[in-house]
Amino acid sequence: IKGVTHAYKTPNGPLPVLDDLNLTVPEGEFAAVVGPSGCGKSTLTRLVAGLMKPDRGEVWLHGELVKSPRKTVGMAFQNPVMLEWRTILQNVILPLEIVAPSMPSADRKARAMELLSLVGLEGFENKRPSELSGGMRQRASLCRAIVHKPDVLIMDEPFGALDAFTREDLWQTMHQLRANEPFTAVLITHDLRESVYLGDQVIVLSGRPATTQFVLDVGYPGEGLRQLDGLYTPQC
Ligand code: ATP
Ligand code: MG
Repeated sequence: IKGVTHAYKTPNGPLPVLDDLNLTVPEGEFAAVVGPSGCGKSTLTRLVAGLMKPDRGEVWLHGELVKSPRKTVGMAFQNPVMLEWRTILQNVILPLEIVAPSMPSADRKARAMELLSLVGLEGFENKRPSELSGGMRQRASLCRAIVHKPDVLIMDEPFGALDAFTREDLWQTMHQLRANEPFTAVLITHDLRESVYLGDQVIVLSGRPATTQFVLDVGYPGEGLRQLDGLYTPQC
């Protein structure tokens, strides 16, 4: 992300949200983005996915300038949207139907099952989304977000709606998924512990319009958290 500046057009005039934002996520790494509510984190995810164009600056993914919505971006949100008329397995397979229509259906199923068993959902593949707990649904939605090996996985507060124990379970799940196959991810979170536990780097946004306040390279989570605690000022 190079020099990204963006304002929303509102009836009261432009609302500047992001100002000269720069951020580099090396392939295979996790970047956690933290910052106060309303400082433009979700806006950033839309820009990365190509759902909106920045007023100024550029978004590059794997050496390609992002100009339009990308199918090769995986997304996960706080409240996963699952198709209720499809089983969990059919939900997880969905991105493959879109980006790899010629893939044999047995291969699609095998790929989805590989991820589902990795996150502990083997045996639940034929259930409907409403038959699963919130944590299980979020596990399934993470499988769906990476089943097609996207260029980047963007998660916007994916664990925000879960209780503390389930959330920490999901952190383990993230580590398991990463150990199985490396992928590049941007994680938006309000939870500083989560940012250092999952992020290889933590990008702190602040200001209105928001810009990068600082970037922390996380060595050990405990040490990272100590540094963040001293530096982080939760204001826009
Ligand atoms: P939170 O932590 O609460 O999710 P955020 O950092 O994700 O906040 P954004 O959702 O990116 O913040 O919003 C940034 C600012 O842009 C806010 O002031 C919001 O009101 C405004 N905004 C967001 N989307 C739009 C839109 N579509 N049109 C106009 N203004 C918007
Ligand atoms: Mg948001």
